[in-house]
This record gives sequence, C-alpha cells and structure tokens, in this order.
Amino acid sequence: MPTSAQRITEQLGQLVGTPSVSSTDSSWDQGNRAVVDLLAGWVEDLGFTAEVQEVGPDKANLIATLGSGPGGLVLSGHTDTVPFDEGRWQSDPLCLTERNDRFYGLGSTDMKGFFPIALAAAAAFRDEQLAQPLILLATADEESSMNGARSLAQLGRPKSRAAIIGEPTSLVPVRMHKGIMMESVTVTGRAGHSSNPELGNSALEGMHAVIAQLLAFRTELSERFSNDFFNVAYPTLNLGCIHGGDSPNRICGRTELHFDVRMTPAGDNATVRGEIDQRLATL
Ligand SMILES: [Zn+2]
Repeated sequence: MPTSAQRITEQLGQLVGTPSVSSTDSSWDQGNRAVVDLLAGWVEDLGFTAEVQEVGPDKANLIATLGSGPGGLVLSGHTDTVPFDEGRWQSDPLCLTERNDRFYGLGSTDMKGFFPIALAAAAAFRDEQLAQPLILLATADEESSMNGARSLAQLGRPKSRAAIIGEPTSLVPVRMHKGIMMESVTVTGRAGHSSNPELGNSALEGMHAVIAQLLAFRTELSERFSNDFFNVAYPTLNLGCIHGGDSPNRICGRTELHFDVRMTPAGDNATVRGEIDQRLATL
C-alpha cells in the first residue's frame, strides 16, 4: 500500500498531466472536466458524495461532501491553470518533475497541489462520525472568467461555517483579502475645431473633472476604510488607462478611463460603486 506521500505525489502527477488551462484568449482556453472527474473518483473512494455541477462546455465544479447537516468546513481550490510559455520551461510543464527537492509542473503550486494534500488530510476522517460536514470544493475558470465561482454564488452553495482556500501564500495563513472591482467611465462631449471652443464640448475637460472627483473619493475611502491588517493599510483606487482625443487642434469628443478599486473587507463593492455613481452624477 502506498504511503500518504507517495499517493500525494502520484495524484499530483496525474493532475498536472491533465491539462486544464483557462484563459480569456479562446485559442488557449480548455475545459477542466477531466480534472474534476479525476477528483470525483478519488473523493468517492474516501466516502465523499460527489456532485458535479456543469458550468459550461467541458467545464464543471465539484462539490464533494463527507458527512451531512448544516455548518461544516470547506476546503476550496480551483482546478484550472494559466497558459504557459513552453520555451521557458526547463522540463515538460505537463509532466510533474522532481528537481532539487522541488516539484515542477504547471499548476503544481497554484493550485492543483492543494487537492492531493486536502484529500490526504480528509482521509484521516473517513471512518469518523462527523458532527458537521467536510466539503471539498473544486472550481472552474478561476484564472479567467470566474464562471465557476459565479455559478456557485448564484446557487448559494456550498454553505458552511468556515473555509480554507489552498492558494499559495508561502505557508503563511492569510485570513482576509482585499476585493477588486474594475470600472470604467466614458465621457462623451462634442468634437470641433480648436480655434473656436464654442463649437464643441471637450470630453477631456470633462474627464479632468471626473478624475478630480475620483481622487477626492480615494482620499475619503482611505480614511473610512483603513485596515492595519494589510501591508497597504487602506483601499486603493488606481487610474490605470485613459484613451481620448486625436489631435492638439481638435476638441476631444470622447474619452474613456479605466480604473480599479481594491476595498478592505469592511467596504462593500456595490455600495462603493453606488457612491462613485452619485459623485459623478453631480458633474
Ligand atoms: Zn490560484
């Protein structure tokens, strides 16, 4: 009978060898169904009830439950990986390779490696009568559309009292994380020749006012929602890119600004978005 370490290595080799790249670039995008099916077989061997939730063509989430009832603990991971640049790998990215006391393979850390470890931990409880359920959750498309997480959120599943997410954190427990929202503002004015400002309405000057509001709001956010648990102890708002105008002698008719906001846990994205809308509506 293989030892726990041998089983972990063997399972990780199978997971790495089952490609499941997800990408917003359709030439890279693959399904994760084969990975989910592998995991489903292994959890069933441990006595879990495996439920495969279809997310899209060849894409699925796995909700595997040991025990029953409300509450419980979720062990959560994503089954997809980012794309890879084969020329920059020293070994086949889809073949788990041990070198210098480390394993190399696409997703071996982020985060296929989490599943064999979680299963080995769960195996200790296979014959126990659990007071609350132990749930292994494996999601699709975390590296791209987040469609796996979205469909779980829609269903409101799985419900539990606590969750451990096996993303790599250099083995340091991380108990909270900032959110992220990516927003854009478009200002539409009226183009015209620069020699007569009366003929147009500058979208660039309108965007200047928008940016001033956003920067004032950023200061307000950092005062209202600072949190010393984070290295960057306040919410951030980054003006990431701006497009507009075509020539110094034309009044700019349209500009578009893209920015992101990363809130500390006390700030709700929908509320923040509403406050941004309110501020910009006054312009
Ligand atoms: Zn990850």
